[in-house]
Amino acid sequence: MLQDRRDPIGLDALEARLRQDLEWLELPGKPWVPRREANGQTVVDVVILGAGMCGLAAAASLRLLGIDNLRVLDRAPAGQEGPWLTYARMETLRSPKTLAGPALGLPALTFRAWFEARFGQAAWESLGKIPRAQWMEYLVWYRQVMGITVENGVTASNLVPASDDLIAVQTDNAGSLLARHVVLATGRDGLGGAFVPAMAAGIDRRFWAHSRDAIDFAALAGKRVGVVGAGASAMDNAASALEAGAASLDLFVRRTTLPRVNKFTGIASAGVVHGFEALPDAWKWRFLHHVFGEQTPPPRDSTLRVSRHKQARLHLGSPVQALREQDDALVVTTPQGEHVLDFLVFGTGFQVDLSLRPELATVGPHIRFWRDRFTPDAGQEQPELAASPDLAPDFAFQEKQPGLCPALSRIHCFNYPSTLSHGKLTGDIPAVSAGARRLAEGIARRLFVADSALHFARLQAFDTPELQGDEWPATPAPATSDQNAA
Ligand SMILES: Cc1cc2nc3c(=O)[nH]c(=O)nc-3n(C[C@H](O)[C@H](O)[C@H](O)COP(=O)(O)OP(=O)(O)OC[C@H]3O[C@@H](n4cnc5c(N)ncnc54)[C@H](O)[C@@H]3O)c2cc1C
Repeated sequence: MLQDRRDPIGLDALEARLRQDLEWLELPGKPWVPRREANGQTVVDVVILGAGMCGLAAAASLRLLGIDNLRVLDRAPAGQEGPWLTYARMETLRSPKTLAGPALGLPALTFRAWFEARFGQAAWESLGKIPRAQWMEYLVWYRQVMGITVENGVTASNLVPASDDLIAVQTDNAGSLLARHVVLATGRDGLGGAFVPAMAAGIDRRFWAHSRDAIDFAALAGKRVGVVGAGASAMDNAASALEAGAASLDLFVRRTTLPRVNKFTGIASAGVVHGFEALPDAWKWRFLHHVFGEQTPPPRDSTLRVSRHKQARLHLGSPVQALREQDDALVVTTPQGEHVLDFLVFGTGFQVDLSLRPELATVGPHIRFWRDRFTPDAGQEQPELAASPDLAPDFAFQEKQPGLCPALSRIHCFNYPSTLSHGKLTGDIPAVSAGARRLAEGIARRLFVADSALHFARLQAFDTPELQGDEWPATPAPATSDQNAA
């Protein structure tokens, strides 16, 4: 019986197709990096810190290029990597369902292929956006079919230059690894942490949280809750509080209007993906300064998820100016007046602050940031941009003072703060494959050049004949005139 083309084919069939596609493309490439030992230890070619979307795409890209001596570490428990099942509080992804994301040009590796294999084409057509938890299920499948082993519950605690070309990756609970290259796929806050205004410092933690924290929303039932910020996370946290039964929800927004247009996403194209990195510095700055100035709107769905609750109030032109504890409550002061709350969530994003990243304690002071060498035009200043690392074309850090920490050139910053140097190749789903390929190709180039003497020795030693010598015997030389005379 002919199968209805709308029936789900099942993951086994999809995986068989993926294997076939890889075979047709002769992928993964054969391993080619010479194995090494140092101090009695096997040297790892690339240690990837973080097994979120970027870490997985990086590992898969490296494997496809035949670089398979990898270790992928993540401090989170298995299946809990990244924000998706922890502090992401939206119902669905913000991006369109059709994005190929980390599929690396392999059709059978897309979310769509995975979804249709499980639920069929009709289900795909009726799907709106991708449910958040389902995206995580897909990422777990992705790592399985791309043969990526993740070591969970392992926290990288410091990166220490160990010799001319090795880095000791110290971990809290799995000893120390010796790596030639290290990839920081440590996420949105990979070079810092949550940003909370200084005024919260003296306030008891039972009154506030950052949107990145684990928040007990059930405990907010019947409470007066405030949220600071107008981004996607602010909106998702407001919705979660309301759905948990908050008595009131006040959203405090500095601006007098909500941003409406998602600028950078709007101009997305292969040109932006591949061209941004090649822009002169002043143009890179100009693009992102404009994006920061306009800000990214929260998704319409998330905003409607909040506004449908009658106890939700939007306060525009209301930067939080002061906080104080009073009578077992929190008083929030804005230019529009005072609000008495039981709990406040800061949806105020993330910041670069190396003091929050133990793994960068040794090398961090040597990292060059944009502020160290670029002065924007008057009126174009932007502290968050200035705190972006100034990265090489392969995402590697560069030294503030040449010669003081050469190991930085083998530590690759494959997380959100790379945006000013590379464009949006790491912070979002859409162009992560392009980012992962750029990273992997850069590392492949570096490994080959570093081992050039060994590869030359392989060239010299290679003696597998193509010709056996019997294919075409040389034509005997014609007899000379002397021989004729004799
Ligand atoms: C709430 C939220 C919602 C988002 N929604 C969307 C969306 O809908 N569409 C979109 O395109 N983008 C979205 N993004 C942006 C982006 O796609 C995600 O941030 C995505 O998770 C980025 O992947 P990543 O691999 O860089 O980081 P992550 O997924 O955060 O992974 C980083 C990993 O590094 C690990 N780690 C960190 N430090 C260490 C260490 N020292 N040792 C070991 N492991 C470590 C962490 O445990 C974590 O698992 C969202 C971001 C957030 C925060």
